[in-house]
Amino acid sequence: MSIKVTSVSKIYKTQKALNNVSFSADKGQIIGFLGPNGAGKSTMMKILTGFIKQNEGEVFVDEIDVLQNPLEVQKIIGYLPEHNPLYADMFVREYLQFHAAIFKVDKSQIEACIEKVGLTSEAHKKINQLSKGYQQRVGLAAAILHNPKVLILDEPTTGLDPNQLVEIRALIKELGKEKTVLFSTHIMQEVEAVCDRVIIIKKGKLLIDKKLTELKEGNQQVIEVTFDYKIEEQFVKRLENVVSYKNNYDNTWFITFESEEDMRSKIFDFAQENGLKILSLNTQNKNLETLFREVTA
Ligand code: ADP
Ligand code: MG
Repeated sequence: MSIKVTSVSKIYKTQKALNNVSFSADKGQIIGFLGPNGAGKSTMMKILTGFIKQNEGEVFVDEIDVLQNPLEVQKIIGYLPEHNPLYADMFVREYLQFHAAIFKVDKSQIEACIEKVGLTSEAHKKINQLSKGYQQRVGLAAAILHNPKVLILDEPTTGLDPNQLVEIRALIKELGKEKTVLFSTHIMQEVEAVCDRVIIIKKGKLLIDKKLTELKEGNQQVIEVTFDYKIEEQFVKRLENVVSYKNNYDNTWFITFESEEDMRSKIFDFAQENGLKILSLNTQNKNLETLFREVTA
């Protein structure tokens, strides 16, 4: 297990920023950490990277207890904080040399990192001469210099233009091939494009922790079915895992199920058992954007 968070709570004076949060991440996963502003994303990331301490609960990164050994953890973790605090007056190479010195990394790694994050053409410039997208690349290069196993990226795509967005997402995806990546965002599409796993928090509480594929299939499925003649509501109610239903036209029902399995075959059996014929049968997946709005509204 690369990251293991157990029952973590964090209180700032009177404000509860995290409330009993638990999750874990396997090696090599890219996890999208979603939630509206103020949800507690940055707080969780600062705890994971050992910059602040939780009030309750345990956090392990690669089997190391962060509370006990923050410095050990920082050796294996790469962190791009929110708003990417860079020394804007430094040249790109100068800044990376500075980072290399802190992490006692051989300077020879710098050029490889510059290439890896696609910074080669801009690497001779001062940081304040770079566009926001390239500044993010500098932050990412600094985060991966010491070849960490785990990358924690706090809103790495906020404020980028659409082209930069696509490029940075691709870069995160590339980095995720070798590392466990936890990155925060409030854009569901981004998660869809990049992640294997999605964690959604709101007001410090974990609401959803699922593989993207599970979320896409959705535990909730809406099935539109048309039978050959009108049936009574009580029949529909008898189906397993029904959450809600709506009879839109005479013989057509929109039935919402809460189930991991595809309920179409169950409807097929149901029709057969009740002497009905199915004229049409469609499944509609919930759009992830809608889902995000529903759970965080
Ligand atoms: P997110 O990154 O999801 O936007 P944060 O972790 O930054 O959320 O903040 C979670 C909550 O904790 C917010 O209500 C925020 O105002 C509060 N908070 C964050 N940092 C501090 C702090 N240093 N002191 C007091 N409250 C804080
Ligand atoms: Mg934040």
